[in-house]
Amino acid sequence: MSARILVVDDVPANVKLLEARLSAEYFDVMTAANGAEALAISRRAECDIILLDVMMPDMDGFEVCRRLKTDPATHHIPVVMVTALDSPADRNRGLEAGADDFLTKPVSDVVLIARVRSLTRLKMMTDELRMRAITSLEIGMQAPERSAVADTGKGGRILLVDDRQSSYERLATILAAEHTVDVEPNPTEALFHAAEGNYDLLIVSLDLNNFDGLRLCSQARSLERTRHVPILAIADPENSTRLLRGLEIGVNDYLLRPIDKTELLARARTQIRRRRYTDHLRDNVQNSIEMAITDALTGLHNRRYMETHLATLAEQASTRGKPLALMILDIDYFKSINDNYGHDAGDDVLREFAVRVRKSIRGIDLACRYGGEEFVIVMPETDLHVAGMVAERLRRSIAGEPFAIHKGAKRIEVTISIGLTTLERKGESVADVLKRADTALYRAKHDGRNRVVSQAA
Ligand code: GH3
Ligand code: MG
Ligand code: MG
Repeated sequence: MSARILVVDDVPANVKLLEARLSAEYFDVMTAANGAEALAISRRAECDIILLDVMMPDMDGFEVCRRLKTDPATHHIPVVMVTALDSPADRNRGLEAGADDFLTKPVSDVVLIARVRSLTRLKMMTDELRMRAITSLEIGMQAPERSAVADTGKGGRILLVDDRQSSYERLATILAAEHTVDVEPNPTEALFHAAEGNYDLLIVSLDLNNFDGLRLCSQARSLERTRHVPILAIADPENSTRLLRGLEIGVNDYLLRPIDKTELLARARTQIRRRRYTDHLRDNVQNSIEMAITDALTGLHNRRYMETHLATLAEQASTRGKPLALMILDIDYFKSINDNYGHDAGDDVLREFAVRVRKSIRGIDLACRYGGEEFVIVMPETDLHVAGMVAERLRRSIAGEPFAIHKGAKRIEVTISIGLTTLERKGESVADVLKRADTALYRAKHDGRNRVVSQAA
């Protein structure tokens, strides 16, 4: 897992030092000597992580960070502030500016590499999601960047796992100023609690009595329901080596006791913002997948999906020696519905038609809109006789009840014709099956419409 790290520092010796250490771990290193240069490089999307010096002439690190985090093009790049001063006030300024982490000079090798590795993992995952979500942007969905930049990170749902009463009472009080907090003092219940609660953040103490907090973190990482929930670990300073282990197994961030109030709030906000952003990206990906296979008007599958999936169903039926039925349905004189009542009325009919189709078929049947007012239904494990009964039931469900149009002000009679057939031979092509169903449909139309015609091969 290699990544490109941008090291920003106005002192060449500092740049060289970090560059050498990172290169030794096979990271690609780029460098910038000032804020303006750093902003330009990151806007060109050339780096995965930014190590940012705080004290620089012209534009200091806080300002650079603030600009990176408010620009939709760069807000997702993890920023680690590197500072010589380790005062809480300094850290908090950085965190307020949106920094993802802090390293104090002189930077310890182990901590540096652990942090960079863990942020690399996070960046890779976000990149993958961003890439997929670009598709949804192209088909006109809202860019998640805009809401991500505006998100304050407040109002999250947090689960705090800590068995020391004095500790969790204090932490819960601090966090409650900005979030909803649940406390779980019993570590053995924590995983279950986390999986059930739909949390935006887990805060886990690593100083639990008779319980390994890291085990809990790793379990949360492998469980489907909690896999994407960020984890903020809390530990006593003497447990700091365990923290590094934690970062390796997927803990997102940590705090050492005694815990500074402002820093806790800032780190919680950062994690919650990130969580919401990646969730949003994930939703977009999910939506675009659904849009790619669904017909927007009726909510049924579209033709593209049907054609791909039908090939799979036909192959399964062939190899298992099971029957497969297929019907094409076509609304009768649909053009005259449009002509007499308007295109919107036609759309209403198509929508209601899809509702009735869905009610008449089983979950394993595949219904799709094949063209304007033509639909295909594929029924696995169904022979011609049974399919004929289903088709007849469908025909009656359309003809038997008038369709509401003009927002219910008018009701009109609608009928359909159905051509029905089954997959006959092992390995018969899907195109042949469709052609046979189409021939049957043509006969149904020719014989007077509002009827089902079955055609054995
Ligand atoms: P037949 O009984 O022979 O099937 O006659 P028909 O009028 O139903 O068939 P034809 O194929 O001549 O006309 C289909 C019409 O469906 C023409 C087209 O404008 C209309 N149509 C196709 N897609 C849509 C749509 O999404 N909405 C609406 N309202 N009309 C559509
Ligand atoms: Mg028609
Ligand atoms: Mg037609």
